[in-house]
Amino acid sequence: MHRSLGRDRALTLVETLVVTAIIGVLAGLLFPTFAKARDGAKRASCMNQLRQLGMAMQMYTADHGELAPWLSAVCPTYCPDASVFVCPSDPAAGRHDASAYMEGATRLPSGVSYTYLPNWKYAWELGWWGRPPHYGRGKWRDSTPLAMCHWHWGKRWDPELDAQAWGKDPKGWVVLLEAGGSVRRIRAEQPVSEFDPTA
Ligand SMILES: [Zn+2]
Repeated sequence: MHRSLGRDRALTLVETLVVTAIIGVLAGLLFPTFAKARDGAKRASCMNQLRQLGMAMQMYTADHGELAPWLSAVCPTYCPDASVFVCPSDPAAGRHDASAYMEGATRLPSGVSYTYLPNWKYAWELGWWGRPPHYGRGKWRDSTPLAMCHWHWGKRWDPELDAQAWGKDPKGWVVLLEAGGSVRRIRAEQPVSEFDPTA
């Protein structure tokens, strides 16, 4: 009786270990799929936010006859929800120090994750935009990139960030808002200097 019970326990233990191992293997197989789905959802949310910012900027432009001097200038009049300026993949939730490529929390305390390209030095050098404060229509008019998300994901699109740890081997997508309000994804492997929306 005791012996039989002992064997049952031993079997149960082995079975438990086997089941645990199987769960571990399955989790290992499924985790990248979950992570990918989660990243895709965040990217979709980011693109949706950029679309909202594009609409806000178009309303600003219609009222003022030119683009806003910086991205968050459309808040709150044309975009009351400040959370729209923060990409869900931004680890610092938009609260960055201001730099040449990022507005951060300087003008909008709740933070800005996106780069406003008319103010991006490299975009002036490439001739996309004139140097501020001339907020014209841009080199490609409605197709001119207007804002960009740094957290999706291609750092090759920013030479300043390339110099930092991120830029070694960029993969994935660059998410761009165009001046006309469209949002497009572009492969990160494409150098920014070769970008031409008309090609
Ligand atoms: Zn993003």
